[in-house]
Amino acid sequence: MDSDPLPGFEPTLAYARARDEEGFDLRDRFSVPDEEYMDGNSLGPLSVDAERTLDRVIEEWRELGIRGWTDADPPWFGYAEYLGEQLAPVVGAREDEVVVANSTTVNVHTLVGTFLDAADVEGRKVLVNELDFPTDHYAIRAQLRARGLDPDEHLVVVESRDGRIIEEADVEASLADDPDIGIVFMPSVLYRSGQLLDVGRLTRAAHDHGALAGFDLAHSVGAVPHELADHRVDFAVWCHYKHLNAGPGAIAGLYVNREQFGRTPALAGWWGHEKATQFDMNPTFTPADSAGAWQIGTVPVLAAAPLEGSLDLLAEVGVEAIRKRSVALTEFLIRLVDERLPDCSVGTPREPDRRGAHVAVEHPDAYRVCEALRDRGTVVDFRPPNVVRVCPSPYYGSFEEVWRVVEKIREVLDSGAHEAYDPPSGGVT
Ligand SMILES: *Cc1c(COP(=O)(O)O)cnc(C)c1O
Repeated sequence: MDSDPLPGFEPTLAYARARDEEGFDLRDRFSVPDEEYMDGNSLGPLSVDAERTLDRVIEEWRELGIRGWTDADPPWFGYAEYLGEQLAPVVGAREDEVVVANSTTVNVHTLVGTFLDAADVEGRKVLVNELDFPTDHYAIRAQLRARGLDPDEHLVVVESRDGRIIEEADVEASLADDPDIGIVFMPSVLYRSGQLLDVGRLTRAAHDHGALAGFDLAHSVGAVPHELADHRVDFAVWCHYKHLNAGPGAIAGLYVNREQFGRTPALAGWWGHEKATQFDMNPTFTPADSAGAWQIGTVPVLAAAPLEGSLDLLAEVGVEAIRKRSVALTEFLIRLVDERLPDCSVGTPREPDRRGAHVAVEHPDAYRVCEALRDRGTVVDFRPPNVVRVCPSPYYGSFEEVWRVVEKIREVLDSGAHEAYDPPSGGVT
């Protein structure tokens, strides 16, 4: 990481415009629906690249019908493995260690379930943290219950000291305290504060205690490079509709380290069968000797096709360049909040290598500020109790937009415009 992501920083529009002249420019490839779209960590917008591959698959369906399984290009039968190969460099894995399949939540179910069943993993407790995205806990609790294990006892939760950050040292201390932990399951980036956890360090800590290490990369994949194989991470899951812009409900991804191949998936299905003999329709299941074994049913080709274009686009610039731009954008945002928003604070770690691609801007009236911004053409999102999540996308976002968002927040707060809105009630934000 460069020492200063913002050389010559000035809190000005001119500085933002000068920065926008540098580096790659993918803006015209995206249909960005709002003046400032700062919510790509929830749902990325459509690119011409994603639309092109989706259109192609629809055309193949029109022209080929069932022959698309073998005659489409690439053939649908191996589409999930094909996309896994394209994803491997994005997460630092070997080609057969990645596949696209299911949804993120389903992948948590099958992978955690698989490793809870592993006879050579002694502990039957799973270590998670208090600030996790809730679906991960719901799924792990369900897998524990299915095995007759009391989730209140077997789901061990690392607590946060400040409600924002999980200290890696606290994960290590929890491991040292409890020899029954068999799986450490952590996020790469916390969905609220945007903290980036040290995947390598947590994996080593798990392995030192005879536990496996799994990660939820939903908030980092496509925005932060990973080295899953080098770090010897055992398994990982993620989704593609956030930073990777593959569309609402896009197929999810998973990684399993080669050392773990050959295990029987907890949620087995015919699409995870050894490919060469899948259509022999054997009554007994032979898992594929790859991450492909954790697929369940037929690959949802229409929910996978936009990802192909998204990955083509990413391959043009590379995930390292994306990360560099993302760090500069979030740094600019953080410094502008410091300089221009005295009533707000930054809940995200300030060290670039400890944060993902979004910033938590904290304000006691965060919900109403988000509402006021929405009416002014800016899409951000609210996370209780006091966080405005702002994500300047390294793909289609700009420094000038970051400048404008901060100015809009300042105007809203200075004029009290947010006070005209009702307090929070519920729904998707
Ligand atoms: C967005 C997100 C999910 C979403 O799971 P789905 O099954 O796609 O709904 C899961 N985990 C984390 C950490 C997320 O950020």
